Amino acid sequence: MKPVLYCATTNAAKVKEFRAALEAHYDVRQLPDIDGIPPPEETGATFEENAALKAVYYSGFRGDPVFADDSGLEVDALGGAPGVYSARFAGEHANDADNNRLVLERMAGALDRTARFVCVIALAHQGKVTGSFRGVVEGVLLEEPRGPHGFGYDPLFHYPPFGCSFGEAELARKGEVSHRGQALRALRDHLDKLAAV
Ligand code: IMP
Repeated sequence: MKPVLYCATTNAAKVKEFRAALEAHYDVRQLPDIDGIPPPEETGATFEENAALKAVYYSGFRGDPVFADDSGLEVDALGGAPGVYSARFAGEHANDADNNRLVLERMAGALDRTARFVCVIALAHQGKVTGSFRGVVEGVLLEEPRGPHGFGYDPLFHYPPFGCSFGEAELARKGEVSHRGQALRALRDHLDKLAAV
């Protein structure tokens, strides 16, 4: 039987990516009843701070280790925005389409369209961080969304080595190179090492 690993997120698209990367070794489960737990305020100035804050908070609801992901898009021409505000760039209740529209609006006419996705995964146990894992992937912002796959800003994020956007790449292909794929592989290596001791 595979060991159970709890993730603290309500984002179904993230859960799919977690499972794709970890399911060969771990039975990844969403924290039970997470929808009923009031989410913590994401007050951190960095992805590291927010990932740690979420992992610590949610690990208080469970005796087992719990991991949380904080991630987002950094656009150079926007001084690194939306950054840690990626999920709420167009407002507290904004959806992906609203956020994408606002990024395109702010980027109208910009010549430098370089951007990156960043993901930090924090692992916590009973209120203490036991590991933090970061992944980064560089790309270029398109002028309009492309592709049906992924979530968030994926349809706007052109990944030159693939010659297409993350929205046009299948889940497994994105995971091989993405910020989240990198952070998840680092988490998996860490857990595998612990299990081998
Ligand atoms: P978080 O849930 O506070 O970590 O916010 C993450 C936000 O960053 C998401 O709602 C998306 O807008 C964006 N984001 C993070 N990772 C990705 C990705 O892999 N693809 C597209 N957008 C992403």
